[in-house]
Amino acid sequence: MTDQKQVLDILRKMAAKMEEQKEYLTELDRPIGDNDHGINMARGFAEVEKELPALEGKDIGGILQKTGMILLSKVGGSAGPLYGSAFMKAGMGLAGRTEASLEDFLKAMDTAVEAVMHRGKSTAGEKTMLDAMIPARDAMRAAFDAGSSAQAVLAEGVRAAWQGAEHTKDLVATKGRASYVGERSLGHQDPGATSFSYLLEVIRDCVAAAE
Ligand code: ADP
Ligand code: MG
Repeated sequence: MTDQKQVLDILRKMAAKMEEQKEYLTELDRPIGDNDHGINMARGFAEVEKELPALEGKDIGGILQKTGMILLSKVGGSAGPLYGSAFMKAGMGLAGRTEASLEDFLKAMDTAVEAVMHRGKSTAGEKTMLDAMIPARDAMRAAFDAGSSAQAVLAEGVRAAWQGAEHTKDLVATKGRASYVGERSLGHQDPGATSFSYLLEVIRDCVAAAE
């Protein structure tokens, strides 16, 4: 079980992780984008962090919805609306909840994937964040169904996310800014798939620490 306080802690650590990986994520966005993904993510999560004291005592759904709204308006680019709707829609599913189970988290991941697909009009194999999100979601669901512990489920998700992010090097971008460079996007790792993998690492570390 994860409570509101742990959710706030996860968001604080996500902000630290985005700040820590700001340069790397931005560098990944140079050859196939406009050199700003890390800057965008760090700025958005820094705004989320500022809002955390005001979110103390709110329910998990409310916290995630507010986070989504901030990301939507402060990250900018395409990642802002995409991560923004992922958090907002996941939050709507957890409205009024003060605790969330692993099963709730997996449902929230399903919702987040659907939100990105809907907002981005995108699907698997287009060299986007979905190419880390979908394999991670599927691997976590499979581990959960096999009866694994929360820690093992999250570890499996992170492994699959990074494998997916790595695999984006073999994909030609057909969505977002990277699609402008077409075939020349080959060989480059997608920034959004990479930022998602880092965010999931934060959740894994917090779940491991809580168990
Ligand atoms: P921008 O491309 O507007 O500069 P960012 O650089 O912050 O925005 O984010 C780029 C990332 O957004 C890409 O690496 C990709 O993962 C993701 N992305 C872009 N368009 C889409 C889309 N239509 N569906 C899913 N993800 C997308
Ligand atoms: Mg960019």
